[in-house]
Amino acid sequence: MQGKIIKGIAGFYYIYAEDGNIYECKAKGIFRKDNFKPLVGDNVEITVLNEEEKEGSVTSILPRRNSLIRPAVANVDQAFLIFAMENPKPNFLLLDRFLIMMEQQDVPSVICFNKGDLAEPEEQQRLCRIYEDCGYQVIPASIKDGIGVDQIRKVLQDKTTVVAGPSGVGKSSLTNRLQDEICMETGEISKKLKRGKHTTRHSQVIPVEKNTFLVDTPGFSSLYLTDMKEEELRDYFPEFVMYEPQCRFQGCMHIHEPGCAVKKALSEGKISQQRYDNYLALYEELKEKRRY
Ligand code: GDP
Ligand code: ZN
Repeated sequence: MQGKIIKGIAGFYYIYAEDGNIYECKAKGIFRKDNFKPLVGDNVEITVLNEEEKEGSVTSILPRRNSLIRPAVANVDQAFLIFAMENPKPNFLLLDRFLIMMEQQDVPSVICFNKGDLAEPEEQQRLCRIYEDCGYQVIPASIKDGIGVDQIRKVLQDKTTVVAGPSGVGKSSLTNRLQDEICMETGEISKKLKRGKHTTRHSQVIPVEKNTFLVDTPGFSSLYLTDMKEEELRDYFPEFVMYEPQCRFQGCMHIHEPGCAVKKALSEGKISQQRYDNYLALYEELKEKRRY
């Protein structure tokens, strides 16, 4: 039988199987020996050892489409980044860090600005515009009132999506809302997984529909960019990449160079000042980090 690893805790993997059940499987030695570690999100083949106790054994890992390093998850299609428009106010530097990290790993991002009920329409539009102008899909929502939820459901449909954002922005409200429908089917999921709840800060896959999965990433509320040279950073700002071919110098960092098309676009208001300022801040941060 096939299934998906939805969680790994201390030598056990929890597999959401085709039959709708969750099987507890011991992490078998063969994988460790080959230095090949199964990841949350991996699709696997299992053998059921005890149907009553829902215990099984992972016999093989199916080919991976991709695997992310941060968070360590396999077979991810996209990232869904949630921030609130108000309460808490969006931390744009954190949002930009998320976006950069996903760009670095070739994962497309969709941004959701939640709690639209707390913000004026003009402010909502302003927020969305900043990131739409960079080429990202942005969904304004009020999950509390059910606004934007259908659009979110459509974006998530048949995909495995890493969900990230600071605490208090509505992530659990969203998952609860989306999960409603299959709660019956997978009622035991929470029961079975609760056991290890306080023992782990690892990612967990939440099945929403048959082929729709969310990846919950605890401890993702702050993060620092790693494995990146400051010269690379510009590649992860899609709106810079659009203008780069028109810069006078090849390899332009868009900082002090004359004839820089990015700075020209900035002065014409075509690139967001806030995004550019965050670029400079992160560029300095990466440069500083390399000194040590
Ligand atoms: P999480 O920490 O990201 O999982 O956020 P929660 O889902 O726990 O939500 C944090 C708080 O924000 C809760 O009190 C929710 O009821 C509230 N909340 C969630 N969505 C909305 C919304 O669209 N509008 C408003 N005003 N509050 C919301
Ligand atoms: Zn330039």
